Amino acid sequence: MKNFKTQSELKSYLNSLNREKVKVGLVPTMGALHQGHLSLIEASQKNCDLTIASIFVNPTQFNNPDDLLKYPKPIEKDMEMLNEIGCDVLFHPDVDEMYQKNEGWNYQVGFLNTVLEGAFRPGHYEGVTQIVYKLFDLVKPDRAYFGQKDYQQFLVISQMNQDFKMGIELKACPIVRENDGLAMSSRNIHLNSQERKSALTLYQSLKFVRDNYQELSLSELLEKAQAFYQKDRLLNLEYFKICDVNTLEELNEKTATAIALVACTVGQTRLIDNVILP
Ligand code: AMP
Repeated sequence: MKNFKTQSELKSYLNSLNREKVKVGLVPTMGALHQGHLSLIEASQKNCDLTIASIFVNPTQFNNPDDLLKYPKPIEKDMEMLNEIGCDVLFHPDVDEMYQKNEGWNYQVGFLNTVLEGAFRPGHYEGVTQIVYKLFDLVKPDRAYFGQKDYQQFLVISQMNQDFKMGIELKACPIVRENDGLAMSSRNIHLNSQERKSALTLYQSLKFVRDNYQELSLSELLEKAQAFYQKDRLLNLEYFKICDVNTLEELNEKTATAIALVACTVGQTRLIDNVILP
C-alpha cells in the first residue's frame, strides 16, 4: 500500500495515472478502523480500479474539545488492516497539512444543519463539508463511499456535491453491526461492560420501530421507542425521530420513505444509529 502524508505527494501520484482508464474510489475516515470502514473499502474495490482511504481526525468537525482529545488514533493497527484488505493508497495527513491557521469556510448547509446532528452539534457539518470538500478537490475521485451509519452526513455531502457540481458518484453502504446489533463505531471502544450492555438499547429501540411500523401509529412508535431509554440511568437520549428519508423533515404521518434516527449518550460516549423504515 502506498502511504502519503502530503497533498503534493498524493497529487503527483494521481497525476501519474491515466485517469481516463483508472477509476478512483475514495473512502474518507477518521481511523480507528473497524469492519464498517472495511466494508466501504471493499465496496470501492469492487467498483473502482484504485481505492484510496484517508485517515484524518478532522478538528473542525468536533464541537466538543474533549471528544477530539479522546478520539482513538491507532494508526499502526489501521495501516495493518488496510494492508491486509489490499487497499491501494492511504492518505494520512497532519492537521497543518490540511489547514491554514484561522482558515475560513462559509458553505451554507441549509435545512440539514438545523435538525438532528446539525442541531445537537453546532458547527459539525461546516467542519465535515470543509474537510470533505478539500479531499474531493484533491483526489477528484470518480466515486466516494460513505456509511449509512452517518446518514445525515451522507445527505449533507450529497448536497455539497450537487451545489459545487463536483460530479462525484456517491455511495451509501449499509450499517455493519456487531452480532448483537450494536452499530460498529470507533467510539464503542470507550464503553465499559455495563455501558456496552446499555448501548444495545439504540438498536433495540430502532428495531422495535422497524418491526412495528405497519401496526402502530407514529405517536405510539415514538412514545414506545423513547420509553426504552427511561429505565436506564446510563442513557441520556438526545433525540429519537422518524423522518422523511430524503429530506430528514420530521414525519406527521407514516410514509413509505421513512427513516428512524437516534442519538444518545451512554455514560460519557455519544452514539448515533438509524434504520430505514419499514
Ligand atoms: P468515521 O471514521 O467515523 O468518520 O467514519 C468513516 C466512514 O465510515 C463514514 O462514511 C461512516 O459513515 C462509515 N462508517 C462508520 N461506522 C460504520 C458502520 N458501522 N457501518 C458502515 N459504515 C460505517
